[in-house]
Amino acid sequence: IMDFLTLPKKQEGLMAEKFNAFMFTDNDSGRQASLIQLTEADLPDEEVLIQVSYSGLNYKDGLAICGKGIVRRFPMVGGIDLVGSVIDGGQTEYIKGDQVIVNGWGLSEVHWGGFSQKQRLNPDWLVRMPSSFAESETMAIGTAGYTAMLCVLELEEQGVQPEDGEILVTGAAGGVGSVAIALLSGLGYQVVASTGRQETHDYLRFLGASDFISRSELSKAGRPFQKERWAGAVDTVGTATLANVLAQTQYGGVVTCCGLAGGADLPASVLPFILRNVHLIGVDSVMASKERRQHAWDRLESDLDRNKLTQLTTVEPMSALPQLGPKIIAGKTRGRVVIDVNQ
Ligand code: NDP
Repeated sequence: IMDFLTLPKKQEGLMAEKFNAFMFTDNDSGRQASLIQLTEADLPDEEVLIQVSYSGLNYKDGLAICGKGIVRRFPMVGGIDLVGSVIDGGQTEYIKGDQVIVNGWGLSEVHWGGFSQKQRLNPDWLVRMPSSFAESETMAIGTAGYTAMLCVLELEEQGVQPEDGEILVTGAAGGVGSVAIALLSGLGYQVVASTGRQETHDYLRFLGASDFISRSELSKAGRPFQKERWAGAVDTVGTATLANVLAQTQYGGVVTCCGLAGGADLPASVLPFILRNVHLIGVDSVMASKERRQHAWDRLESDLDRNKLTQLTTVEPMSALPQLGPKIIAGKTRGRVVIDVNQ
């Protein structure tokens, strides 16, 4: 009791102020995912204290909520991304009020993440929020949309131009797919959307898709070498779909591979590479350099149609996460889901 009574004022305040977080635990009664209350004193020992505004629901968050890997330390606050403002930047370049974004860097895997009203983070993980965005827009983009931008950058850097031909986007109505379509069509590319949900065609047409190919057509095993069609592709599905995409890519075409919504294997042949000079480019967002991230966010600021972004976004509270996790894994969410951590 004496210790408590003699606590410095600041620490006393910290103990009193509670905030909400969504946490994964693993103990004798098994894996749990639940909304809990924390104090600042519970947060990790990192230098920058952030007032979190929004996080996002990403495929990886779905895996974590469903107990399918991802989380490597317990207890773990979920959420692989966040946007918010600095409360205390410590000895870093960040000062109170700076608006920052974090994607990846092991959040919700080995470091506590964005499903929390406050978080402490390493300054190296922070990207300054481009000033013309509203905070909610950056999480409408989220890790999925930033990854879509990384894929588009790769297509551009590999020299794929709008006049070269059609660009295929697989998993089209998902988060990565939706933002990729909006970006590519805005840049003048002709985009073909592969979706398993016919009811999303009007939505995908609004985002900029000019033609469709059904998910089932691309996901069944195909010949290793097929009629050339795609100048480029953004693949979020993997497995037989990616094998078919490679087999249908034009001479010298470029396929970016960023996801495994269909599976992690790749039952393909080397023929597209050695006979058609097809390029397969891997895209990782989690450990991308700070410069690459800043570049991607700057391009999102200048290139992404905000009206399309609004149309592809829904907002949900943290309390909905237990229902949203299984939904995204089943491929039943459309576009992007923003998590309002203060709702
Ligand atoms: P979503 O769940 O929002 O989108 C995935 C889409 O894939 C679904 O909407 C659905 O689209 C399609 N799909 C779902 N299940 C299957 C299936 N069994 N076979 C074929 N298609 C399927 O997820 P995200 O867009 O957020 O992420 C997509 C992928 O990209 C995930 O695997 C994710 O892990 C990965 N990713 C990778 C990153 C990286 O750094 N490399 C970063 C972010 C995401 P439709 O209904 O239109 O067919």
